[in-house]
Amino acid sequence: MAGAPERTCVACRKKGAKTEFLRVVATPAGAAVDSSGKMPGRGAYVCDNQECRAAAIERGSLARALRQSKLKRVEGLDSSS
Ligand SMILES: [Zn+2]
Repeated sequence: MAGAPERTCVACRKKGAKTEFLRVVATPAGAAVDSSGKMPGRGAYVCDNQECRAAAIERGSLARALRQSKLKRVEGLDSSS
């Protein structure tokens, strides 16, 4: 673990390794889950669970982290899957 960068969930503030979280990236169309981990742009991290996925959007944490004040939905994040 030494030297591994820690990421923080924007919803619950839990810290952990990058692989524990979903990466969400700001896109021209809004934002999308970066399932490949390779999309360019400003990214934010959210736990891969329903609570954090929903809270990140509803509480505006994700919008702040991505500096997209009008962010309402995130492709791949607010679905029920
Ligand atoms: Zn979380």
